[in-house]
Amino acid sequence: MAFESLADRLQETIKKIRGKGKVSEADVKQMTREVRLALLEADVNFKVVKDLINRIKERAIGQEVLKSLTPGQQVIKVVQEELTELMGGEQSKINLSPKPPTVVMLVGLQGAGKTTTTGKLANFVRKQHNKCPLLVAGDVYRPAAIKQLETLGQQLTMPVFSMGDKESPVTIAKEAVAKAKEDHNDIVFIDTAGRLHVDENLMEELEQIKSVTKPDEIFLVVDAMTGQDAVNVAESFNEHLGLTGVILTKLDGDTRGGAALSVKAVTGTPIKFVGLGEKLDALEAFHPERMASRILGMGDVLTLIEKAQATVDEDKAKEMEKKMRTMSFTFDDFLEQLGQVRTMGPLEDLLAMMPGANKMKGMKNLQVDDKKIGQIEAIIRSMTPKEKAEPDIINASRKKRIAVGSGTSIQEVNRLLKQFKDMKKMMKQMMGSGKGKKKKNPFN
Ligand code: GDP
Repeated sequence: MAFESLADRLQETIKKIRGKGKVSEADVKQMTREVRLALLEADVNFKVVKDLINRIKERAIGQEVLKSLTPGQQVIKVVQEELTELMGGEQSKINLSPKPPTVVMLVGLQGAGKTTTTGKLANFVRKQHNKCPLLVAGDVYRPAAIKQLETLGQQLTMPVFSMGDKESPVTIAKEAVAKAKEDHNDIVFIDTAGRLHVDENLMEELEQIKSVTKPDEIFLVVDAMTGQDAVNVAESFNEHLGLTGVILTKLDGDTRGGAALSVKAVTGTPIKFVGLGEKLDALEAFHPERMASRILGMGDVLTLIEKAQATVDEDKAKEMEKKMRTMSFTFDDFLEQLGQVRTMGPLEDLLAMMPGANKMKGMKNLQVDDKKIGQIEAIIRSMTPKEKAEPDIINASRKKRIAVGSGTSIQEVNRLLKQFKDMKKMMKQMMGSGKGKKKKNPFN
């Protein structure tokens, strides 16, 4: 996951100041020094860091913080707000034209993820905005690009406009927009050619495509793993084309995060989406505030909830909550929950969004492996209905039968039974303390 070491360092720093009833100027200075180093190490542009640190210092040493009742928490709030601002403040949404078709151009260097992102973005816009996209194969120089886009089109059951690799990309783009009008496609995604480096010929061609198609959006697709280079690339594309947004890809990888934190400040262009994997649904709208919270270990509960809402049936969720409250939660329910969680994406990603999750004991190196979940499912499926409802009746001979049936061992069956018991115990505690004790909000 991106930002891991930055997040670790910032959280370490914050921990020292969080609970302080009194914060001195020296404390603030010490903290900003550590924040500065952490950001530089994450490959954030040095000028960006300097400005950010000055703003944090100014606000943190100011009256609003040091004289407040909870100065430690106020300082953290300042850091969170400034990080949010740095990444663009408000979320920038895709600009849809009132006069369809909306034209979206995707530009970027070779290998940044342009073609893949064209498919992902079309998929996103169709789902979120109920649009009917046309994909345009405008990368005529990379031989595989046209085929790649056609394959994506097939996977998504979306039309792809292609004229092979003999026509100029400018003609292709122009014809594609005309075709979209004819076929009532209300949004057009043009995948353009990339080069290994920014060069004049490429820019000229892209400028021509821009002038014939009058795009509503020009998105630069950049690879987050390239760090400061991504920012330089963004600057030069922006000078030539006037970008309307940046899409950062490969944020699922081990990037230090510097690009995400500097792109907006250096180029003035907001990050609109982030790519988090190779699959077609691995694209998320970029929310600066949520990202800042994630980096500071406050979790990204909103994205988690959105993901859950998109996959979990509300009535079922209510029913499940009732079962938890009345302690009638069985192995059958557990199995159903596992299935739902699985459709939300890799468990590690979900855990990373939970507040403080990366600081929980043992969580750090937790590899939630899909095979394990498969095993758990197999064990539960090997139980009889009565055993699922009343696990207490599972004695030694039943355990042996379940282990054989699920292709696991008695130890593994025992482990699951114990986990289930512990989980029920935890639920009981949570439900019991639900009224009086509320979880502490780090800001209050
Ligand atoms: P293009 O040359 O810019 O069109 O790049 P492609 O779309 O062919 O992508 C290059 C490689 O990056 C492919 O292997 C993609 O699967 C991969 N890729 C694209 N976006 C992401 C992402 O968000 N995460 C990961 N892990 N891989 C990605």
